[in-house]
Amino acid sequence: MAEVHSIGGFGFDSNIYLIIDETVALIDAGTGMNFESVKRNLADFNLKPGDIELIINTHCHFDHAGGDRDFVAAGCEVSIHELEAELLRKGDQTITLAGGFGGRLGPMEVARELREGDRIKLGKLKLEVLHTPGHTLGSICLYEPKQRLLFSGDTVFCEGIGRVDLPTGDAAAMLKSLRRLARLEVQKLLPGHGPVVEESADMHVRMAHRLVKESRW
Ligand SMILES: [Zn+2]
Ligand SMILES: [Zn+2]
Repeated sequence: MAEVHSIGGFGFDSNIYLIIDETVALIDAGTGMNFESVKRNLADFNLKPGDIELIINTHCHFDHAGGDRDFVAAGCEVSIHELEAELLRKGDQTITLAGGFGGRLGPMEVARELREGDRIKLGKLKLEVLHTPGHTLGSICLYEPKQRLLFSGDTVFCEGIGRVDLPTGDAAAMLKSLRRLARLEVQKLLPGHGPVVEESADMHVRMAHRLVKESRW
């Protein structure tokens, strides 16, 4: 059984999920400003940055992708939706909000561009890429149908949804994305910020969809 652990969330960092499978991967990497703390958490699993083979970014924001660079330097590959790959490659500071966080992003190499329907096989764990724009144009969620895990980035949280008023945000697209997610069977929700929902997480996703649908967007 593949293991999934939450190893981040310091300061302004996004949650960082460590997946230990045939491939050792991270979902998001935080800002990079708390790299020493992240490294200590990795060490609890007898891992060092050079053991991380793949980072899957849920979107381009600095609080999720700023930390990629330190792992790339240690040999890790980065993946992100094709619509946001160029932002990381050229080290965009605006759409990624790097400036707003008081940091600098990239530039960095993106090894794999992700698209709707892609399957990322880490070993026992196989993640399906769902393109869910709204928070940003290239936001994705990652769904694991066997254990019904949903890594939801900044699209949906334990309580609430991601902002749609940032660059490339789109309220109508967010509503569509939530409608789609609300149809999934989700046991465990692993969002980009805040607590993990361990059980019957589809209730939270459906509630988020209903609230947005009934508010006047
Ligand atoms: Zn975020
Ligand atoms: Zn974000």
